[in-house]
Amino acid sequence: MYAEVIVDIAHTAVDRRFTYRIPEDLPVSVGHHVLVPFGQGNHTKEGFVVALKETSDYPEIKDIAKILERYPVLLPEQIALADWMKDSYHCLFVDALRLMIPAQMRGMRIKEKKVRTVALSPDVDPEAIRESLKNAPVQRSVFNLVAKIGAEASIPDINAFCPGSTPAVDALIRKGYLIEQTETVFRRPEKLRLHTPEYTLTHAQSEAANQIRSSMENGSGDVLLLHGVTGSGKTEVYLKAIADCLTLGKQAIVLVPEISLTPQTVGRFTDRFGDRIAVLHSRLSAGERFDEWRRIRLGLADIVIGARSAVFAPLERLGLIIIDEEHESSYQSESQPRYLAGEIAAKRIRTVNGALVLGSATPSLMSYTRALSGKYKLLELPERVAGRPLPTVEIVNMRDELLMGNNSIFSDKLAERLSECLAADQQAMLFINRRGYATFVSCRSCGYVLKCDNCDISMTYHKTESRTRCHYCGAVKPLPKECPNCKKQFIKQFGIGTEQVEEAVHRIFPSVKTLRMDTDTMRDKGSYEKLLSAFHRREAQVLIGTQMIAKGHDFPNVTLVGVVAADTTLNLPDYRAPERTFQLLTQVAGRAGRDNLPGRVVLQTYEPNHPIIRFAKDQDYKSFYHYEIMERKKLLYPPFSLFLRIVFADRDEQTAAHACLDYAKALESELRTVLSEEGKQDLLLLVAAEAPIARISGYTRYQILIKLLRTKRLKEALRTVSDFHDSHRSVCSETQLEINPQEMF
Ligand code: ADP
Ligand code: ZN
Repeated sequence: MYAEVIVDIAHTAVDRRFTYRIPEDLPVSVGHHVLVPFGQGNHTKEGFVVALKETSDYPEIKDIAKILERYPVLLPEQIALADWMKDSYHCLFVDALRLMIPAQMRGMRIKEKKVRTVALSPDVDPEAIRESLKNAPVQRSVFNLVAKIGAEASIPDINAFCPGSTPAVDALIRKGYLIEQTETVFRRPEKLRLHTPEYTLTHAQSEAANQIRSSMENGSGDVLLLHGVTGSGKTEVYLKAIADCLTLGKQAIVLVPEISLTPQTVGRFTDRFGDRIAVLHSRLSAGERFDEWRRIRLGLADIVIGARSAVFAPLERLGLIIIDEEHESSYQSESQPRYLAGEIAAKRIRTVNGALVLGSATPSLMSYTRALSGKYKLLELPERVAGRPLPTVEIVNMRDELLMGNNSIFSDKLAERLSECLAADQQAMLFINRRGYATFVSCRSCGYVLKCDNCDISMTYHKTESRTRCHYCGAVKPLPKECPNCKKQFIKQFGIGTEQVEEAVHRIFPSVKTLRMDTDTMRDKGSYEKLLSAFHRREAQVLIGTQMIAKGHDFPNVTLVGVVAADTTLNLPDYRAPERTFQLLTQVAGRAGRDNLPGRVVLQTYEPNHPIIRFAKDQDYKSFYHYEIMERKKLLYPPFSLFLRIVFADRDEQTAAHACLDYAKALESELRTVLSEEGKQDLLLLVAAEAPIARISGYTRYQILIKLLRTKRLKEALRTVSDFHDSHRSVCSETQLEINPQEMF
C-alpha cells in the first residue's frame, strides 16, 4: 500500500501530495500524523496522510518512517475541507490542514499528560504486609491509604495525604506490595456550572426550534437565519436545538465571539449538558487546548463551544453548527488562510447533511439578503421573552447641549437618568465607542497633532500612564509641555476616553462605585472575567466601557444604558460604517432591561436626524436593512460587489510605491483580458495609492483596491487575481492579498 502525504512545510514549491510506501508493520490510515524522509539527505519531516492507494508509478519510493499519534489526527471530511479551502481561499493545502489540529501538536511540542498510579498487588495478604511494615511507619501509612481507597491512587493524591511519601511508594513497589501503572489524564479548563432554569419555550422559540429540528432530520444542509431581538431568548433555542441534535445521535459546534466566551456563557451550556462539552478558545493553556481537542477527537465530547477556529473541531458525527452573533467581524480570520467561519461552517454542514444556524439581533446585510431570497430559512423571534418590553430609547442632541452652555460629557438627560437609576439601587452601563474617537494630543494654537514616529497615526493619550501611546506599534512618548511646532503651551489632549467618562461620573456622583473596561484595563489574562463577575455581584453600580461591554452580557439589574457618543463610527471612511454603527447601538441598547425591570437607553449624538440613529432608536432592523441595502445598491457596494485589497509594505518608500503601481498596471490589463468584452463593466474599480495609514512601524504602505461586480464571471476574475498574486508576491518585502478586508486602513 502507498500513502499520499502532505509534508508539513509551508512553501508553495512543496505544497503537493508526495507518495510514500507503507511498511508492512505500520498500520497507517488516512489522517495519520507521520514522519517521512524528505529532501536531500532524507531528514525526517512531519506530514499528514491524506489518501491511500494500491499502486504507484514512481520507481523510487521511500517508506513512511513513523506514526506520531496512535489515532488519525484528521478526519476524511476535514481533509476534503482543506482541499476545498486550498482552492476557495487560494491558500496552501498544508496551511489549511494545520487549522484542524492544535498548533502545539506539530513538532511534538505538547504531550499527553500521564500520571503514575499505584494499586494493591493482588497476590499479597494485607495483614501480613502490615505486620512486615511495623518498623516503616511511612510505608505503612501509604499502604493503608491505598488499601482504604481500594482502587488506583495517583502519586499526587497519596502525597496530599502523606506528604513527602514518594520514596515510600517506590519502596513498596520494589517489594512487590503495590503495582504501578500510568494513566492518561485530560487537562480540563475549569468550567462553571451556572444553574439556569429550563424554561418552557415561548411559541416563537419552539417554532424556531422545530424548524431547526426538521432541517436536521431532512439532512439537506440547510442554513437557517435566526433573527431575534435582544433578549428574545436565542440561547434557549440553541440549547433545544443541541438537545435535539444529540437525540438524533449527532454532535454540535457552537461558535461565540471570543469576547463573549465567558464562564457565564459556557456555564449555561455546561449546566444543561455537563461533561459532554468541550471548550476551545485562546485563553486556554496549550495543554488544556490539546486535551480538549483530544476529547473531541476521541469521541468523549459531543458539544464544542468555541471561538472562530472551533469551526474546525473534529467531530465525527457532526450534525449542527450554531454561530451566535453571526454579524461579528471576528468570524473573519485576519491571517492566512483568511477564511470566514460562516463559509467553513456552511461547507461542512453541506458535506455532513446537517443544519447551520446563524443567530443575531442584527444580521449582516449579506445574511439577511440571502434569507429574503430564500437561500437561507428565516426564523424570527420578534419579541423579548415573558412580554418584557424592548428598552425605551431617548435621543439627545449634543449640539443643543453645547448651545445651552453644557460642554460636559453628560447631557442633562443622561445625568438625570443616571441619578434616577442609582437612586433606585439599579445598575447602569456607560458605553463609549472608542474606534475613530481616541484621545489625541493637539495644539489649539497651530493645530499640530502629536503623531507616532513610525506610523502615520496620531498618538493616543493615556491618563493613568501620563504619556501617549501608538495603538499600532505600541511606541510611547511623553506628553509635550509645549507645542513642538509653535512652541506655545496650548498643547493638550482632546477627545473622550473611558477614563474621562469615569471622572465625570465621580464628579457628579462622588460616592458611586465604578468599573472600567477597555483594552488598557484588560491586559491581564483573567481581568475581563473578574471585572464582569464583580459587576454581576453588584460590587459597582456603573460599568464604563468600550465595545467589550456591548456584547451578549446578561446583567439582570442593569436598567440604564448610556451611549456617550453614538455617532463616532458613523462617518469612518468605510462602507460598512453605518451597518457597524447600527449593530453596535442595537447591541448596547439590548443590555438594558433584560430581566423584570424595564430598561432605558440614552443615545447622545451630534446627528440626531441621521437615518441610522433613528433606526437604532426604534431598534427597527427591517427599516434599517431596507434603507442600507438601497445605499449599497446605489454605490454598488457589497453584497452587490466584492472588495479585494492588496497591501504593499516596505521600509523603502520608493520600492513600495513602484511595486504597487507596476503591479496594478499589469493586473488591470490581465483582468481586462480575462473579463473580455462582455464582462467589461464587472471591474468597477481598480485604484492604486498610498494606504490610508501610509506608514506603520516604519514600513511605507501602498494598496490596490479592487471592486468587482458579483456576476457569474466573479470566480474566474478571483482566480486571475490570486494566480497573478502568486507569481508577483515578492515584488516588495510584504504583500498581502485580502478578499473582503475587514479593515481598510
Ligand atoms: P438573547 O440571546 O436573544 O439576547 P437570551 O437567550 O440571553 O436572549 O435570553 C434572555 C433572557 O430570557 C435570559 O435571562 C433567559 O434566561 C430568559 N429566557 C429565555 N427563554 C425564556 C423563556 N421561554 N421563558 C422565560 N425566560 C426565558
Ligand atoms: Zn506607531
